[in-house]
Amino acid sequence: MVVDIGRLKRTGEPRSLDLAITNRDLALGQSVCNMNRPARAQVRLAVAGDAVRVAGAVKADLQVSCSRCLKPVDWSLNKEFDLEYHPVPEVSREGEEIELEFGDLTVGFYRNEQLDVGASVGEQIVLELPMKPVCKESCEGLCDQCGQDLNEGSCSCSGRPLDPRLAMLADLKLKMNRKQ
Ligand SMILES: [Zn+2]
Ligand SMILES: [Zn+2]
Repeated sequence: MVVDIGRLKRTGEPRSLDLAITNRDLALGQSVCNMNRPARAQVRLAVAGDAVRVAGAVKADLQVSCSRCLKPVDWSLNKEFDLEYHPVPEVSREGEEIELEFGDLTVGFYRNEQLDVGASVGEQIVLELPMKPVCKESCEGLCDQCGQDLNEGSCSCSGRPLDPRLAMLADLKLKMNRKQ
């Protein structure tokens, strides 16, 4: 959902939006996370000078992949956000720093008087995604040699490959034993 900021500035009135956030707004592969139905977001847009404030809440139910066995894991989010957007700064002269001081508000940029509010909310969801989701704490993961799901049974591979440091120690021990 792209909002015409120019129009918002002309009317000066805040605008409330009820958005459906789709997978496209998340800009991530569906193997990373997937929403079976769009997330709902209530957003209020207000302008002050060139600044656009985007405040609201999003509620999402989605699926992420277990970081060990890759099975889909249900995950949900209820998040409030308060963001501030500014026009992309003009190409600054060399060495000139762009100063931004807006307290705790998260600051982003818009260009050409347009702001994709769906993508802004999508970003807020992505920021909260768990780094290493697991389907269950005891998930055994996949065999890294044959890909067998070790939750469903063991495979005939000779267990996990030895840690290379341990392998070196084992080798050393073998040599020492031979010398004796
Ligand atoms: Zn798992
Ligand atoms: Zn295996």
